[in-house]
Amino acid sequence: VQWREPPTIRRLEESVANRIAAGEVVQRPSSVVKELVENSLDAGATSISVVVKDGGLKLIQVSDNGHGIRYEDLAILCERHTTSKLTSFEDLQTIKSMGFRGEALASMTYVGHVTVMTITDGQLHGYRVSYRDGVMEHEPKPCAAVKGTQIMVENLFYNMLARRKALQNASDDYPKIVDLISRFAIYHTNVSFTCRKHGANKADVSTVIAASRLDAIKMVYGMPIARDLMEIGASDNNPTRSVFEMDGFISSANYMAKKTTMVLFINDRLVECTPLKRAIEVAYSATLTKASKPFIFMSISVPSEHVDVNVHPTKREVSLLNQESLVNTIQDAIESKLMSSNNTRTFHMQA
Ligand code: ADP
Ligand code: MG
Repeated sequence: VQWREPPTIRRLEESVANRIAAGEVVQRPSSVVKELVENSLDAGATSISVVVKDGGLKLIQVSDNGHGIRYEDLAILCERHTTSKLTSFEDLQTIKSMGFRGEALASMTYVGHVTVMTITDGQLHGYRVSYRDGVMEHEPKPCAAVKGTQIMVENLFYNMLARRKALQNASDDYPKIVDLISRFAIYHTNVSFTCRKHGANKADVSTVIAASRLDAIKMVYGMPIARDLMEIGASDNNPTRSVFEMDGFISSANYMAKKTTMVLFINDRLVECTPLKRAIEVAYSATLTKASKPFIFMSISVPSEHVDVNVHPTKREVSLLNQESLVNTIQDAIESKLMSSNNTRTFHMQA
């Protein structure tokens, strides 16, 4: 056996390590938008607007009317692991805010140029400050500002050439961003959203505070879809299986689409659950003769100790306790809903 000289182990430069980690949190322009919008929601905003240039590679700008950021906090705002939301590990169990890692803004400063404009209640003016690699580039400068916070991320992945190339070659991220804002908009009916391309005078998503979920769906996805939706609910309170409550809207037999649209919130978080999506598709293909894929809006609540939000930096896929029985119960509920609406043709809402 040939012995090879072992290579020397060295500590990575901090900026290199930070950039690598940042590339995981911020995978693409739409992940920046998701983090910024979730921050706005956490700040109690009732109005959020998004502007995007070049699919987000040139500019992503999110403005909100939330509580703003204190002047004293601006110096550490974009450092890694600085947050106003979490103090102890145990808090993770009960955390209600979307964010908690204090990594999103920091990550953006390692892979793009971040500028923050913010004003808090009762102040005569706001502050504007830019960040690079976690730190302020200069002292915050006083500026005119309306209520809340505006965050701009420019030249995303300017220092990650492979990522930037891949994104430039792939189709533009803008449709993903529109899709994301659409999803937030139908869940957060008490928040108005807009999403537009830089320089466009027409927004691609534009909602006002809605009276009902169905109204919100109408505003975002249009009347033709909303017309073909049925309200659905299910719950299971048997603690030996799973404990959950679900409510939502699902498309009826009249709806035609090539692709499934599944908008899923679990405990107020926009997430994905592939097994649930598959099970619902099975329910549709088993019940309906037409080969149409469904539209699903679903909100599920489970006890907070049944969901682990900490499986991935992007918090996209959550892992659930008793997932299988939850999926089965929902699949059954959808099957019987589709059957009864198929049989009776006229549809009565379940009490
Ligand atoms: P996290 O959301 O996990 O706390 P972030 O890096 O996303 O971490 O944000 C860091 C902190 O910056 C937040 O905890 C919050 O206090 C503040 N912040 C970020 N965005 C906003 C905003 N739009 N409005 C008010 N505060 C914000
Ligand atoms: Mg955050």
